[in-house]
Amino acid sequence: MSEVSEQELGAIDERIAAFRARLDAACVQAGREPSEVALIAVTKNHPPEYALQALRSGLLELGENRPQDLIAKRDGVEQLDPGLAARARWHFIGRLQRNKAKQVVAAADMVHSIDRVAVAEAVAKAATGSDRWSAATPLPVLLQVNLDPAAPREEHDSTASRGGVHPLEMSQLAARVAEHDELRVAGLMAIAPLDHDPGECFARLAELSMQLRLDHPAADIISAGMTGDFPAAVANGATHVRVGTALFGERQLA
Ligand SMILES: *Cc1c(COP(=O)(O)O)cnc(C)c1O
Repeated sequence: MSEVSEQELGAIDERIAAFRARLDAACVQAGREPSEVALIAVTKNHPPEYALQALRSGLLELGENRPQDLIAKRDGVEQLDPGLAARARWHFIGRLQRNKAKQVVAAADMVHSIDRVAVAEAVAKAATGSDRWSAATPLPVLLQVNLDPAAPREEHDSTASRGGVHPLEMSQLAARVAEHDELRVAGLMAIAPLDHDPGECFARLAELSMQLRLDHPAADIISAGMTGDFPAAVANGATHVRVGTALFGERQLA
């Protein structure tokens, strides 16, 4: 296990407190209560000690973007402090391949990145075969939508990196996910595309969220906003922001 100094952990505490203040200010600016916006601490490429430090400071929502890292980090935190680890909620926020669905379903408490029917089907199948999820306790999933106005509409092959379902295909994907009792359509996730105004992108996401809720009234999560654009996301109704760099510094591991 990696060596992490007390000094490093103290610096994380300071960063978390400083970011908390910035997030609270963004909420006030948007006329929202800070309690309306959950902060997901993205621990990717940082050691389990960093994730544990986040938990110690009260950040119980943690995010990872690779299936194998999610499992390793979750296990690492469990070994360091089983009591605190039991209170953590792990969010899978990365691109999902069908053949990794089993790993993700075994370790994630919410999946943010359902972006096509084939992935939804694989996750549903894995959830059905898992002892963690059932019709009584369905796995909450978010549909990742592509906010790039130039996004192609047709389905890509599984290796293409499309970054979400086309907005015009969102309702259809939601309907397919909802066919599975082991999954619960919980809302939307998006990453603002580079070279576009995040405010405009997240305003579009808010519209899509309203559209989704016509058919799925309980799907009220909007996962949007990262270190560089969280104020625009909060201003446009984000319920969950996913933040790494501001909390933990530049990523260390490859
Ligand atoms: C890495 C990552 C984040 C966090 O990004 P930062 O800029 O470090 O805050 C958020 N969402 C996703 C999907 C990510 O992969």
